[in-house]
Amino acid sequence: MIKTYKFRAYTNKATEIQTNVVLELCRQMYNLALEQRIMVYKQNKKSVSFYDQNKQLTEFKKEFTQFKQVPSQALENVIDRLDKAYQNFFRRVRIGETPGFPRFKGYERYDSFTLRQGCGYKLENSNLILSKIGTFKLKLHRQIPLEAKIKTVTITRKNNKWFVCFCCDNIIPKILPKVNRSIGIDVGCESFLTDSNGLKVENPRFLNKSTERITKLQQKLEKQLKGSNRRKKTKLLLAKKHEKVFNQRLDFQHKVAKHYVDSYDTICHEKMNSFKSFTKLNRSMRDVSWFRFFDILQAKAEEAGRTIVKVPAKNTSQQCSKCGEMVKKDLSVRIHSCPHCKLTLDRDLNAALNILRLGMSLQDPTFPGNDCLVKFDDLIIN
Ligand SMILES: [Zn+2]
Repeated sequence: MIKTYKFRAYTNKATEIQTNVVLELCRQMYNLALEQRIMVYKQNKKSVSFYDQNKQLTEFKKEFTQFKQVPSQALENVIDRLDKAYQNFFRRVRIGETPGFPRFKGYERYDSFTLRQGCGYKLENSNLILSKIGTFKLKLHRQIPLEAKIKTVTITRKNNKWFVCFCCDNIIPKILPKVNRSIGIDVGCESFLTDSNGLKVENPRFLNKSTERITKLQQKLEKQLKGSNRRKKTKLLLAKKHEKVFNQRLDFQHKVAKHYVDSYDTICHEKMNSFKSFTKLNRSMRDVSWFRFFDILQAKAEEAGRTIVKVPAKNTSQQCSKCGEMVKKDLSVRIHSCPHCKLTLDRDLNAALNILRLGMSLQDPTFPGNDCLVKFDDLIIN
């Protein structure tokens, strides 16, 4: 199993300066490689591949010696990132979206570099020694397991702080004992989520509380002179405020995900396909960001040996969870009231019950599925 460990890192002034130099050179490399791709395409209608650019690196470093300060692996990673940006762009074009073309990175807009397995770094207790750069002291709030094989090391700068991420393979999952319980989860606008047992987890309003302060800082920033020290200070304050909200939200999502993974063997939720439907949602919906929550849930479930079933979202809120009839209602109607079987319950609970039933029938074809809804009441396990 693959797992990523992230640590806060501290260092001295000299190493910090050198790391900033490396980041700046990586940014220049990215822009040069992008320029080359664009130029070659304009002149010869040919595309330049990752391998073409990677092969040229050695020659390039002979000519522009300042790039010798950057670990070779980090430069390769720059080319790789650009290649991924291109692949993403063309993938989105193919599925009919209108993505922005890969862009040149502005000053201080390149915040991390990556080293691969065992090259250019050494990990000694809590010290990460980077060749050509210096030493970072890591705050090891948890241990990387002994069996772990480090695949990549990424050093990141964020709001004047440093972080190191170890992406590790060969992690042994910590399988939890079976509890013989399954659950369906519906995410909505009113609550963060509603599950098929009728539990509602309320939306965290961290950002709403902080919005006022963020808006004020934003207004202050707009009035300040570009490039001035005061503006830089406000910018940093603003970034820190955003970071705090982000961390609080992440913490909340981890806690909710842990609750479900600890308590249920199978967790069913809606498939979230495209980002498009997501952008239409209102502010507080975006704030709670379901995508990250489901990613966290997936990762925790994998590690614990639990099952996640993603069901198609179609009709989960319209269909009656007891008799299967369609009961049309728009988003403002919060109660599901079925004229056929007289079932009356919370709209989101009805959806969560449908999600559970669908999920279980997807898992096991003999399970009462869409066409066999009568036995549904038996499924509500507490
Ligand atoms: Zn009904």
